[in-house]
Amino acid sequence: MNNILSKKPLIISGPCSAESRQQTIETCCQLAQSGRVDVLRAGIWKPRTKPGSFEGVGSIGLEWLAEAKRLTGLPIATEVATSKHVEQAIKYDVDVLWIGARTSINPFSVQELADALRGANVTVLIKNPMAPDVNLWQGAVERIINAGIKNVGLIHRGFASYNCEFRNNPMWHIAIEMKRRMADIPMICDPSHICGNRDKIALVAQKSSDLNYDGLMIESHISPDKALSDAEQQLTPQELIQILDQIKWRDTNFSSEKYTEILEVMRSEIDQIDSELINLISHRMKITDQIGEIKRQNNVAILQSDRWNQIIERLLNQTDRSTLSEDFLISLLEIIHLESIRRQTNIMNNQ
Ligand code: PEP
Ligand code: MN
Repeated sequence: MNNILSKKPLIISGPCSAESRQQTIETCCQLAQSGRVDVLRAGIWKPRTKPGSFEGVGSIGLEWLAEAKRLTGLPIATEVATSKHVEQAIKYDVDVLWIGARTSINPFSVQELADALRGANVTVLIKNPMAPDVNLWQGAVERIINAGIKNVGLIHRGFASYNCEFRNNPMWHIAIEMKRRMADIPMICDPSHICGNRDKIALVAQKSSDLNYDGLMIESHISPDKALSDAEQQLTPQELIQILDQIKWRDTNFSSEKYTEILEVMRSEIDQIDSELINLISHRMKITDQIGEIKRQNNVAILQSDRWNQIIERLLNQTDRSTLSEDFLISLLEIIHLESIRRQTNIMNNQ
């Protein structure tokens, strides 16, 4: 099998769940006819938050997916959460297996899947775990790679959260860190599960393209409002195509020599500024160490709230808010302040 993940941008779409033969085949055929979708997806076994919700049609759905593959010639994808699912999916020649967010959070489950997958000629996509823990996500990927799976990809679907404008908070910095750690592994964005409704799907998809992601997984359904799972976030195939048409796909690299040259100059300027910043911060830490020593000798408390307020106020007043926001400035100062307190506490206790 050639590497499905080598296409960029890779577009995966299809219903959240396979519900009936007709719904699966019609959705998949409309998507295939558009010529814009590379992989057809459908959930067969659905991990639901509460019992009593629709839990998927089970293996019969694999027959419908396999039929969609025969009719369209496109590879098919489904979610696996147990070794039995893996066996079944392989039996029906499913090309892409994804590990869902409720499974990738559990190393026992991921290892069970890795053992079942050993030696299989399939592509495996690992969704970020429900919790924003880069190590857990990386560990899940390593378990699958260690089982000898060559074609592995990541799916960013956001993290469980309260009081967030999204169903699952994207926390882009976690996915960016994952991309940094596993630079050779494609990163696909799943705006459907990040958003939880149709409104912001285009916006999130565009953001992922701006961040140089390698593709999208977006749920689609012939009649979204009647869907048995995730009804609010599914799009019709036509709506999906409209969104795909709007997205500006960014180039990974600047091609023209002039751009490259300008970029080189600006990057060396950034490198220079970063070095200066780090030198200044270490210089600042040395001075706070000296202050810590004086506080120790005079038995004075480390935290001086008035002084800390003055620091923040002075800097907020002198900073141009159009370049640095108040939130950013305060967060930055807090990190520096916390490190200073940590060092002074060590000094205080190591007399
Ligand atoms: C899905 O893709 O339908 C799904 C259940 O995904 P997640 O694991 O991201 O919730
Ligand atoms: Mn879903």
